[in-house]
Amino acid sequence: MHSFAKDVDSAAVDLVLGYARDRLLLDPVPLDRPRARDELDAAAGATITRTGLGARRALEVFEQTLAQACLSTDHPRYLSFIPCAPTREAAAFDVVVGASSIYGGSWLEGAGAVWAENEALRWIADLAGMPPTAGGVFVPGGTVGNLSARVAARHTARARAARSGTGARPFRIAATDNAHSSVVSMAAVMDAEVVEVPVDERLRMTGPALRRALEEHGPESFFAVVATCGTTNLGVVDDLASVGEVCREHGIWFHVDGAYGGAGLVAPSVRGLFEGIEHADSFIVDPHKWLFAPFDCCALLYRAPELARAAHTQQAGYLDVLNEAADWNPADYSIGLTRRVRGLPLWFSLAVHGTDAYRDAIEHTLAVTRFAAEEIRRREPLELVREPDLSVVAFRRLGWGPADYQAWSDRLLREQQAFVCPTSFRGEVLTRFAVVNPQTSRDDIVMVLDTMA
Ligand SMILES: *Cc1c(COP(=O)(O)O)cnc(C)c1O
Repeated sequence: MHSFAKDVDSAAVDLVLGYARDRLLLDPVPLDRPRARDELDAAAGATITRTGLGARRALEVFEQTLAQACLSTDHPRYLSFIPCAPTREAAAFDVVVGASSIYGGSWLEGAGAVWAENEALRWIADLAGMPPTAGGVFVPGGTVGNLSARVAARHTARARAARSGTGARPFRIAATDNAHSSVVSMAAVMDAEVVEVPVDERLRMTGPALRRALEEHGPESFFAVVATCGTTNLGVVDDLASVGEVCREHGIWFHVDGAYGGAGLVAPSVRGLFEGIEHADSFIVDPHKWLFAPFDCCALLYRAPELARAAHTQQAGYLDVLNEAADWNPADYSIGLTRRVRGLPLWFSLAVHGTDAYRDAIEHTLAVTRFAAEEIRRREPLELVREPDLSVVAFRRLGWGPADYQAWSDRLLREQQAFVCPTSFRGEVLTRFAVVNPQTSRDDIVMVLDTMA
């Protein structure tokens, strides 16, 4: 299958790359929608067969059936969850990554690609004001990033407790109830306990509330504090400066989850909200969210990468050749070993466009979000839940119950107008826009709001 019939192979490659090219240049993209299992069974038929369908037929099944049953997260009115709207250059370069068979776990095997990924990580570390020694790795997503950082934090705290001979075995994490679902689910994976820090009237974690929570449970029982800069549901940025200060006071690892909102570091109009992030012991941001990279890509950075290496480096005879070298091996900084060089599409797009273009694109999404907030305030039956900090705006339609939101959302998708799901906050069903796609325009916002009159 690999070595025969080069001409047949090249026809298949041409077909597939031709499809990729067309999709990359498509404008507008279709929103599309899910289909039921039995509809897909009927439309696609048997695809895994003894003799194979051949490239043309297999691609046809994908193009005419399967692709149309997947939402385009880069559609300008895909406003649910956190969309993913890569630059064309980043998405195109993902094809190169797939074509190049690069192993991204070690310097020995992937030096050139790892060098480029590290350049992109350096840009992010500089935005956050982390020291020159900071470094990390691109992992699949914020969930894995949050987990890996906290594994490093716990390893560090336990090693220190062991050295001090106190017998302490830190097992707690402090976070607010606005923290991402993965903070709690990965705590379960780690068998760690999450202590909830009450939020202030702006829904933020603050230093004083954190101090009370730590003191109530005993600061020595904590190995990490997880602050968020841009919560997923409402876009809240915690008060990183006062939270970081309390972490330093108690010698507790300060992790900042910026999976969604960390990209706001690039935007001068909101940079002030991130003050204090320079003290983070670890920080994540998902370029597949608001930094225009394709799935799946999370930048994980450590202030002192050697602490992460101590926690994560895998040991085995066949890995000695890697571990005995003084090289930068990305696999040493997170859970997992084999890795795709998933930071390369971001690197390529940054190299092509320059960082000013990122600043401008993110400022544009912020301006559209502020316009949306303005429109919501202006429209009689609508009400903002909270002034947006970043590019998420949550709001309610007065007089609607959960079923109304769902019926409205279903209709928008059925009619291929938009993808805007209900969400809930403190038990109340409402809805939200997450604006991370620079193609989302003021007209798109007006069009969706007009359906809520
Ligand atoms: C999206 C998100 C995560 C999880 O990231 P994945 O890439 O989906 O694993 C974690 N934290 C925050 C704040 C997020 O918005």
